[in-house]
Amino acid sequence: MPRPTKYHLASDAPADTFAQEFERLPIQELAYRSRNVEADRVQHILGQGRAESLEDFAALLSPKASESLELLAAQSQQLTQRFFGKAVRLFAPLYLSNECVNICTYCGFSRNNDIPRITIPESLVEEQVAKLARQGFRSLLLVAGEHPKYVSNGYVESCIRRSLEHMPGISIELGPMEADEYKPLVQSGAEALIVYQETYHRPTYESLHKAGPKKYYAWRQDTPERGYAAGFRRLGIGALFGLYDWRYEAVSVAAHAQYLLRKCWKSQVSISLPRMRPAAGEFQPDPSFFISDREMVQLICALRLFLPHLGITLSTREPSHLRDGLVPLGITLMSAGSSTEPGGYDHFDETQWTSTEDQPGEQFQIADERAPREIASMIRAQGYEAVWKDHDQALAISSEPAQLAQIG
Ligand code: SF4
Repeated sequence: MPRPTKYHLASDAPADTFAQEFERLPIQELAYRSRNVEADRVQHILGQGRAESLEDFAALLSPKASESLELLAAQSQQLTQRFFGKAVRLFAPLYLSNECVNICTYCGFSRNNDIPRITIPESLVEEQVAKLARQGFRSLLLVAGEHPKYVSNGYVESCIRRSLEHMPGISIELGPMEADEYKPLVQSGAEALIVYQETYHRPTYESLHKAGPKKYYAWRQDTPERGYAAGFRRLGIGALFGLYDWRYEAVSVAAHAQYLLRKCWKSQVSISLPRMRPAAGEFQPDPSFFISDREMVQLICALRLFLPHLGITLSTREPSHLRDGLVPLGITLMSAGSSTEPGGYDHFDETQWTSTEDQPGEQFQIADERAPREIASMIRAQGYEAVWKDHDQALAISSEPAQLAQIG
């Protein structure tokens, strides 16, 4: 797996990439100003019903905007329904491997953690995908730690092909690669590439990523563009909330999404805003970086007013009450019934969909442990459709950006 030794600094990045653009954005200033916005500025933006710039978006993250959360949420709901209808797409993660060459201090898979390590055989991958398909899933996210041994020998391609026997929609979340390395994965049938920056605050990023190729901040930041060049038709980005000031991360990831929506316009772009969860290694986040449930709702609604076409994903890291409340407010994709241990579904009984064993090799503990069918019922009870299968691929291959985004 080649790694870009000269790509240490964003100033070394090739022209016209997000890493380069990011250097020029006044993120710190916007995050700072977003704490002290006047009420009339918030009212002006809410009066427009849209955040027309990154500055507007930052203003909607302010304590003053929090006072108008109901109006913000109503506008977000309206925009979400206009662009996505009343539907939430469901997917499940399947962890292929917890072997990893990186030391990321906040992650259970960090190579210095003493957990049982495994890369599951292809036969078990197929078995588990079939098990997830029997739960109703038709969209799958294949996840793995970063390790050269399985990305260079056709293992992932084979896992994709075997998964496609049971699931029409396959996304991948692996260590970043070159565009040429992604092409065989696209040719095998993967449609989406997910890569989270974790934290956009460079000094924090460098302090948390102690060893391994993940240290290359700018190279990671430009990964979605390499994925786009390789042909992925969906791109997912995100920040892990709790590692740094949440407003800084929010402004950064929104800027990244806006950039990708413009530059990678043939792909659908989605964003995920996971919060820290307990994991092996017992990383202790700085409490001042914590984002509350209420602030999370405000952030998601503000994002919708800024980027109405953006897919917004909510994972099982969040507690059930928050997930239920967010269904009508802006979410378009949800994971359900997740295990974050490679092979973890082996220990799930099919009727209750609960694990019958501890999961010592998991990446982190999930918060919403409800079975997939319970999540689907909850979505339907709110008058929304739980979509297991994405819309027909043929619909998403041509057309203009606005139409593509509406497909959702
Ligand atoms: S965050 Fe990813 S790269 Fe870092 S240790 Fe965990 S699995 Fe490995």
